[in-house]
Amino acid sequence: MADKLCLWCLKPLPKYRRKYCSDDCSDEYFIYNIAPLWWNNAKIIALERAGNKCEQCGETANLEVHHIIPLPNSNKRHKHPLNERTNLKVLCRRCHNNVHSKSFQKAKLQLRLINAFEDS
Ligand SMILES: [Zn+2]
Ligand SMILES: [Zn+2]
Ligand SMILES: [Zn+2]
Repeated sequence: MADKLCLWCLKPLPKYRRKYCSDDCSDEYFIYNIAPLWWNNAKIIALERAGNKCEQCGETANLEVHHIIPLPNSNKRHKHPLNERTNLKVLCRRCHNNVHSKSFQKAKLQLRLINAFEDS
């Protein structure tokens, strides 16, 4: 019987592995093949729930999906607790930019407070 091959790098699989030769291969396969589909689906569900309009102002064009609690870039498309429905909000581009510039200002302010505190 021919050796089975890793689904990602196509090297023969070690005996104890079923689909991928290593965890790295399994992770990469997920990131490139499954995560984008999964994220697409999560976005479609969020849009439907919001009635295909901005949850802030009701705009129906240029809709984007925002993470209420932000998560690191590399995790954005992963099946991650912060990608659950309850953490997604549908916003039009304008409201989305607004939200982000506000949280950016807030983060800057906090940083300044911390620095001020440490200086004294
Ligand atoms: Zn492999
Ligand atoms: Zn809006
Ligand atoms: Zn956002």
